[in-house]
Amino acid sequence: MQEIHTPGMQNVVLAQKTLADYAPIAGESVIEEIGRLARPLQGARVLHVSSTAYGGGVAEMLHTLVPLMRSVGLEASWRIISGTDDFFLTTKSMHNALQGMDLDLTNAMRAAYLHANVDNAVYFEGDWDYVIVHDPQPAPLRTLRRSDGGKWIWRCHIDLTAANSTYWSFLRPYVEAYDAAIFTMAQYVKQDLQIGRVALVPPAIDPLSPKNAPMQDSRAAEIVRLYGIDPTRPLLTQVSRFDPWKDPLGIIDVYRAVREEFPDAQLALIGSMAHDDPEGMEYYQRTKEYANGDPDIHLLSNLDGVGNIEVNAFQRAATVVLQKSLREGFGLTIAEGLWKGKPVIGGNVGGIPLQIEDGVTGYLVESVDEASQRALELMRYPEEAERMGARGRETVREKFLSTSLLRNYLRLFTDLAITRSVERSEGMVAS
Ligand code: UDP
Repeated sequence: MQEIHTPGMQNVVLAQKTLADYAPIAGESVIEEIGRLARPLQGARVLHVSSTAYGGGVAEMLHTLVPLMRSVGLEASWRIISGTDDFFLTTKSMHNALQGMDLDLTNAMRAAYLHANVDNAVYFEGDWDYVIVHDPQPAPLRTLRRSDGGKWIWRCHIDLTAANSTYWSFLRPYVEAYDAAIFTMAQYVKQDLQIGRVALVPPAIDPLSPKNAPMQDSRAAEIVRLYGIDPTRPLLTQVSRFDPWKDPLGIIDVYRAVREEFPDAQLALIGSMAHDDPEGMEYYQRTKEYANGDPDIHLLSNLDGVGNIEVNAFQRAATVVLQKSLREGFGLTIAEGLWKGKPVIGGNVGGIPLQIEDGVTGYLVESVDEASQRALELMRYPEEAERMGARGRETVREKFLSTSLLRNYLRLFTDLAITRSVERSEGMVAS
């Protein structure tokens, strides 16, 4: 069946947020620095462009970053690109290939990708001082709007370390049309990328959002009980899209190994279905089959009413939080778990080691066996687990809150604005 396809971009409706509310949590010094950086940027027109307003880390962050940009005097907006099913299938392959899968890139796929981008570029509206284009889906927009003014930034959220060379060669010229690119880690910056400026900025979580705001343990217990979990028994939680890179099948193996020593352990696999992720449902089914009707394995998603507050509750009610990814650009769920004072067991890949200090705030693991052993240790020694979790929360406070993210964007805008005024005074820019 052909889906109804509306050309052009949609504005995302956003909640209001106030920077001052973050001061008691993030500390005064970052708030002051933000104030200082924002002063010369008052009224700057900023547009974020991404491929979905719901599901996944990018959407999660923009729901806070854009309102905070507004709160400090920028005219910030966020728009979502439109695309056909073929486009989103292609961009999902692109995502997988850029994270290292060996996949073909056919002419039909190239055409689907470019057609959608041309559609979005044709309907692109407004004059902007800064346009931030997130991830590969809308990357060609800069090339297609080459004569537009403003500074254009490509924000890459994925791990390009082992990028498939066919896909990267296809994408690279579009990225090189930007003034700057932001990566999470230095290792993700490809050697052959030629671009004016590269900034390294880790993602961040919002400590005041319903997903991360304080919640009494008793409330968390009440919420998970509604989903059939017994909060008095041990609970392993992983919150992730149903995606092979997140290894939900491996998590089920970890749970089975843990059950040998803790036969009353339960597993909650929470995974939302993002609209730009056509594989989600298929992988959910695979995971369900693998769970094989075990009543203590709970596969839950937004379709069961699991939203932000429920994710908060499941992370808090967990005895152990896992994120056993096989590839991971960053993994917001790790910062989310640490923020709740839980040590997190994460795959030793991508952005996960940036967040977990092995043996200090959680464990970095390479296999199901290692993950199982570490989960058992945390379950056997809950006091030590609590100490590790408390340290993890402080790491997040220092490095991975939305206030740091906002400050890092404002620093980059400032640097790019200086470049612009230098270019102007040297007569390099026509406007
Ligand atoms: N998430 C959610 N519900 C789910 C699954 C994921 O709210 O059922 C959220 C999760 O809490 C996190 C984001 O989606 O904030 C996932 O970001 P992450 O960086 O971990 O992974 P990505 O999906 O971007 O690969």
